[in-house]
Amino acid sequence: NQKKSLGTEVVAWSKGVLGNSEKPVVISGPSGVGKGTLITMLMKEFPSMFGFSVSHTTRASRNMEKDGVHYHFTDRSVMENEIKDGKFLEFANVHGNLYGTSVEAVEVVADSGKRCILDIDVQGARSVRASSLEAIFIFICPPSMMELENRLRSRGTETEEQIQKRLRNAKAEMEQGKSSGIFDYILYNDNLEQCYEGLKKLLGLDGSAAATQKTSPQGIDLPLDHLVTKIEN
Ligand code: 5GP
Repeated sequence: NQKKSLGTEVVAWSKGVLGNSEKPVVISGPSGVGKGTLITMLMKEFPSMFGFSVSHTTRASRNMEKDGVHYHFTDRSVMENEIKDGKFLEFANVHGNLYGTSVEAVEVVADSGKRCILDIDVQGARSVRASSLEAIFIFICPPSMMELENRLRSRGTETEEQIQKRLRNAKAEMEQGKSSGIFDYILYNDNLEQCYEGLKKLLGLDGSAAATQKTSPQGIDLPLDHLVTKIEN
């Protein structure tokens, strides 16, 4: 019955009417892997092409975060009631807080004529995969758990306890991400610029030959394919 309230465009997506280049893009991966940075880069380079699905969350806002831009910050009881009312496409408990994609968040992007980007966890990705919303599912992978820990610490947005919780969850997410059959692609983020080029390639935005070949810091040309694993589900 959630589907009944979806907008025209969302219904078009759910029927698979749209081509690969227009399907919503679901991006998942452990906390600290760089999903947010990659999405920001994409939205900055292609502002008229992509729209971000602004999720709801019950976690407290961080310093630079704006309500309605990064998240819709809300109370658990309010959100639970809205979930009961069928207002959410998917939701999940992540690191002790409730996060979810409202139908409206996706409709707002669809109405603007842009391609929707969802930054959601693996549980959320599984729910969307099981729904009739046809999307492209990309899992961003860190080069190692140690590097993930370094990144999580250096961004300085979580307490030690929260970092520990996120690292524990990261292990489970990595296992699920690689083997669950949810994702179409795994993209390695060991170098941000290269990973971004890989992401653009996946999304069909790599028009130039320069974009498909990147020079490593050592001066060796690296084909981007080594960053991308296509999963045959
Ligand atoms: P953070 O607290 O670092 O912003 O996000 C924590 C995790 O929640 C990230 O893995 C992010 O992808 C995920 N997340 C953000 N919004 C949603 C959502 O709407 N649904 C789900 N399932 N996960 C979300």
